[in-house]
Amino acid sequence: MDNFHFSRPTTLTEATAIAPPPTGALRFIAGGTTLVDLMKLGVETPSLIVDINTLPLDTIEPTPDGGLKIGALVRNSALAQHPTVLHNYAVLSQALLSGASPQLRNMATTGGNLMQRTRCIYFRDTVYACNKRTPGSGCSAIDGHNRTLAILGTSEHCIATNPSDMNVALTALDATVHVQNKGRDRAIPIRNFFLLPGDTPHLEHPLEPGDLITHVTLPPPTPGVQTVYLKLRDRASYEFALSSAAVVLGISDGKIHRAQFAMGGIATRPWRSPEAEHLLQGHAPLRLSSVRQQRRTSRRTSSQRKRLQGRTSKALPRARTHPGN
Ligand SMILES: Cc1cc2nc3c(=O)[nH]c(=O)nc-3n(C[C@H](O)[C@H](O)[C@H](O)COP(=O)(O)OP(=O)(O)OC[C@H]3O[C@@H](n4cnc5c(N)ncnc54)[C@H](O)[C@@H]3O)c2cc1C
Ligand code: SF4
Repeated sequence: MDNFHFSRPTTLTEATAIAPPPTGALRFIAGGTTLVDLMKLGVETPSLIVDINTLPLDTIEPTPDGGLKIGALVRNSALAQHPTVLHNYAVLSQALLSGASPQLRNMATTGGNLMQRTRCIYFRDTVYACNKRTPGSGCSAIDGHNRTLAILGTSEHCIATNPSDMNVALTALDATVHVQNKGRDRAIPIRNFFLLPGDTPHLEHPLEPGDLITHVTLPPPTPGVQTVYLKLRDRASYEFALSSAAVVLGISDGKIHRAQFAMGGIATRPWRSPEAEHLLQGHAPLRLSSVRQQRRTSRRTSSQRKRLQGRTSKALPRARTHPGN
């Protein structure tokens, strides 16, 4: 691991006044569950580390409009178990609990989870060319081992997925990320927070050096909305998503009046599909029982069709090949 300078500010003003170093990068450290790993691998080589764990950013509070404010240092486990999150934003709790392990969730923070880097194996191994790690060096994944990488939002320069479960739920919930730098506050809607790779895959967020995420806000919950997080992965725990979906549905009078869903594991950023959301609105939700019924019907229909074909072929005399043909 390379040498680096270390700073531990005690106030927000102090933390956001720190000037980025002239060479090398400034990195904030929160839970350290991504950053320390990447430093050990030689992927991240910051010249200044700013430990933000002493800052007062670890609370969850209601906002004046009835939404929720989540401090950047709130640990993933605390957020998942918070009564308001369990009650009003269950999809977020489910997404968090599907990620990593209890020990990791006790360390991992909201800000760190938002900023976690891709798990593309070539990004994490400095032997390989990787445009995200070393701009212009090439992408080893495009013709390599890419079963877990993205199929949506890719470019010829990078096909890496955003690995976070929490980010998928925050995207479905239309969260806003709040950033501070040298006394200036910015609010970034989450749909603008993750950049597509394009020809600059090393740029992942619209953040300037020294920008500190202070908190995330969620809009007020809509009464009667139902939510769920589904995650498919290679093993039942301690594994990143091959594919996931955070679904927020408002249903009244048997019809969907609001549909927001984000997909994870398949795209370079948490992926919203406005077209699909629009298609669902005004329709009755399909119940699992009716899907099963439809499957049974279609199986019956196809076996009936086969039997019918069998009967038909027996009933009709086979066309004889005329010796002259
Ligand atoms: C074995 C393993 C399995 C995992 N499985 C999953 C999984 O299934 N699903 C999943 O979603 N995640 C998974 N994770 C990732 C885990 O969720 C992240 O490592 C964690 O959320 C990062 O949070 P942290 O606080 O430890 O971040 P850190 O490691 O401290 O920081 C990560 C990055 O965020 C930046 N940062 C941190 N806080 C701020 C801030 N306030 N403002 C600006 N920048 C900031 C840091 O500079 C750094 O670049 C796994 C991790 C491991 C090691
Ligand atoms: S997919 Fe992206 S992160 Fe992976 S090797 Fe290619 S450029 Fe690097």
